Amino acid sequence: MGKKFYIRTFGCQMNKHDSERIAGLLSECHFQETLEIGQAEVIIYNTCSVRENADNRLFGHLSQLASLKERKRSLKVVVAGCIAQKMKEDLLERSPHVDIVVGPNDLGALPHLIRMSEEKKARLCQARDKPQQEITSLPSKRKSAFKAWLPIMTGCNNFCSYCIVPYVRGREHSRPFEEVLTEAQELVNDGVVEITLLGQNVNSYHDGNGRGFFHLLEAVSQIEGVKRIRFATSHPKDLSPEVIDLIAQRENICNHIHLPLQSGSNRILSHMNRKYTREHFLHLASLIQERIPEVALSTDIIVGYLSEEEEDFWDTVDMLKKCRFDQAFIFEFSPRPGTTASMMEDRISKAEKQRRFRMVNDLQKEISWQKNRSYIGRCVTVLVEGRSKKDPGEIWGRTDNNKVVNFPGSSELIGKMVSVKIVDAGAFSLKGIAHVPRRTTSHENWVIFKGELQRISD
Ligand code: SF4
Repeated sequence: MGKKFYIRTFGCQMNKHDSERIAGLLSECHFQETLEIGQAEVIIYNTCSVRENADNRLFGHLSQLASLKERKRSLKVVVAGCIAQKMKEDLLERSPHVDIVVGPNDLGALPHLIRMSEEKKARLCQARDKPQQEITSLPSKRKSAFKAWLPIMTGCNNFCSYCIVPYVRGREHSRPFEEVLTEAQELVNDGVVEITLLGQNVNSYHDGNGRGFFHLLEAVSQIEGVKRIRFATSHPKDLSPEVIDLIAQRENICNHIHLPLQSGSNRILSHMNRKYTREHFLHLASLIQERIPEVALSTDIIVGYLSEEEEDFWDTVDMLKKCRFDQAFIFEFSPRPGTTASMMEDRISKAEKQRRFRMVNDLQKEISWQKNRSYIGRCVTVLVEGRSKKDPGEIWGRTDNNKVVNFPGSSELIGKMVSVKIVDAGAFSLKGIAHVPRRTTSHENWVIFKGELQRISD
């Protein structure tokens, strides 16, 4: 039996997807995945360095490995991802428990590095700046049978002042158009119903032959069997009205757009090198909300950025009130070493950042709650993703516009589309009951029995 490996993933969807590629690659090399860290012979941390607490969390995890390494001398600890790329050999120096450091551009070499580390009893680092092999050419072991990430591009050219991504993931590189379509078709053949097109800035996708993101999205939406298409992430300077109209027209393109605002102040947006104004963002947000019925708009906000004055902060508050996002991911600014912002004076105290965070967070919670309450009494279609962690009697899934819905039901519904009537709502999720008995296949009927959706034979 092959060696057992365990992967812990930090950060964004791109990283989660990379972890599936790592799992696919190692499985192909006869390693075996385990979900129990204690059973693993190879532990892999696939890291993210976008937020400060990601670094802290990694080092917290690494320090906890001391006793495990003591008990299991042959255990190999691997750090992959953005922190590996950023710190390279320094990581080996800083953490004595790490055996292998491998950057995103060298993931294909991981099985070889593990072997070399064992044979030579050496600690190794491979994190080159240019891709040695496209990660998308590596095999993938998906976590979900019915949902998949599909990277359409890697890297980023935007150099937002606070962001480390262009330094660790390199310049923007779009995958060939036909290659993306072939992979989408293969996913559908494999039973996938929901595909998320991934890139740091999907709207700047281009295939070198005049075809951009609009054309790619349109082509993927025409593949028979793709029930839901999502994409992440959009950049406000590049999201086009054509893409907005396409979302409105195509039933299988989900009515959800994540559009990071970051700040409502033009002065701060300019400092951040975001290349759009609050007026442009407002125009886009109203276009989206006018043209796409039932759309949900989510965003990212950074509070307390370097020289953010009270007036700048209130501009952000004003934008939250005007755009009325369904959801916002709010962060206190913390400078990431190696970025332009890290070379400037951070003038806002921690306490002040926390105050601004609380204010924006409270406001957004209220807006999200109000928007979610408007769903009470309505029926929505939910793609069921799993059992609820909080209530074992419930299952959960997402609507087309990315609302999380919890409702009583059995595990057999995981991966299926279910009609759910919404009976309650909080700021972060909706609560419902399965709506009507509905035929899900030619052989099965589903009925509500004792409050649960259950299958009966024809
Ligand atoms: S668009 Fe800006 S924030 Fe997004 S990955 Fe690129 S540099 Fe980072």
